[in-house]
Amino acid sequence: MAEDKLTKIVSFCRRRGFIFGGSEIYGGLSSIWDYGPLGTILKKKIKDVWWQTYVEEKEDIVGLDSSIIMPQGVFKASGHLSSFVDWLLDCPSCKKRFRIDKIEKIGKDLYKCPECKKKIDSSKSKPRQFNLMFKTNTSATEDNPYYAYLRPETAQGIFVNFTNVLNTTHKKLPFGIAQIGKAFRNEVTTGNFIFRMKEFEQMEIEYFTHPKEAPESYKWWVNDRFQFYIEKMGIKKQNLRLREHSKEELAHYAKSCTDIEFNFPFGWNELEGIANRGDFDLSEHSKVSKKDLSYFDDDSKKKFIPFVIEPSAGVDRTFFAVICDAYHEEQVKGKTRVVLKLKPDLAPYIVAVFPLLKNKPELVSLAKNLFYDIKNKLPVLYDDTAAIGKLYRRQDEIGTPFCVTVDVDSLSDKKVTIRHRDTMQQDRIAIDKALDFVDNKIG
Ligand code: ATP
Repeated sequence: MAEDKLTKIVSFCRRRGFIFGGSEIYGGLSSIWDYGPLGTILKKKIKDVWWQTYVEEKEDIVGLDSSIIMPQGVFKASGHLSSFVDWLLDCPSCKKRFRIDKIEKIGKDLYKCPECKKKIDSSKSKPRQFNLMFKTNTSATEDNPYYAYLRPETAQGIFVNFTNVLNTTHKKLPFGIAQIGKAFRNEVTTGNFIFRMKEFEQMEIEYFTHPKEAPESYKWWVNDRFQFYIEKMGIKKQNLRLREHSKEELAHYAKSCTDIEFNFPFGWNELEGIANRGDFDLSEHSKVSKKDLSYFDDDSKKKFIPFVIEPSAGVDRTFFAVICDAYHEEQVKGKTRVVLKLKPDLAPYIVAVFPLLKNKPELVSLAKNLFYDIKNKLPVLYDDTAAIGKLYRRQDEIGTPFCVTVDVDSLSDKKVTIRHRDTMQQDRIAIDKALDFVDNKIG
């Protein structure tokens, strides 16, 4: 049933132009996906809400847009060069390659191949290390290469700009730097649609605090980020949970870490990680770059390296969770109605306008005028390419909260029918009040 939901969502996203396979006409690449017209709108809305919540509405967080290609030194300091690795095991029977931590161990040195189910003896087929970073050459020639990397997280761009931001904004602790951008990981375990991609987007904040205030700040962020998914993304609380990392699971530098998990069709999995990273990042970058990345406290007249709290969210996983949570199938008069119950302000279109009959020029012109009036204020779509029932179904599927139909009576009573996506209830409203009606409903 759950797997069935995943299959349905993948085909739904494709059919309605939310997500396509990357470079499909050339056979595609595994775990590389493109966002179609509707997916682009939804993804942008998710990022806009996050940016508005943390950068525009807060005084203590500023934005950054740092580069994707970064030199080797950055990742020496961050630890990605030495430890951002997966251990891989090859199956000698079916020749498939697996992450050793993701497959079943059935005895000392023995693993079970998830593909052909035969035994893999790891004392013979030795596990090998594989760095997940994409390497590139920034020099003009191949004979004199200068190697750099595509960032595996946006965070490092924030740390390397810490002093730049401090000197140009004159922020005092506590303050944060936020960034939305692409990250790249040559993931070995792929699949599960856009859950694990090789090219994806992150929304990250590095929130710098006085070391003493870090535990409080960490708690605040865990709670705030959890609420964000409920209040701003419209995800149902029962589909979200917090999972605190045990001491053994914590990265050596992390003081504490909590994942926000979502109940995906393939089970509970990480949507976001929130970590108290101590002073690890700024200290390591100070050492490797030999630049002082400390903070001078005017009150105590002391210099120190701040602690950092990092709420690190994936844009694509949030998108996926929002779609999974909103996707519903209902039986209406013996037929299946697919309805995407998105939070109204996240819907790609908030209103759709239709003329009931497209061969009546007066109706079409009235509907088009209404469409242009609304277009100045809200995301709206005009459609007259099918019969009314089909037009409604199309909008239900993509989550449009309101459909406005102009019919023959509209010419005389100057009213239109407004249909609600979730209840299918219809209201008859004066044309010149239609926009206000919708606006009030979405708050
Ligand atoms: P996982 O354990 O699932 O691989 P992670 O712990 O490596 O994730 P982080 O390094 O904490 O992930 O990255 C922060 C966030 O970035 C994740 O919570 C997730 O939302 C997103 N993210 C990480 N890797 C990917 C990926 N390959 N594809 C899509 N999103 C990703």
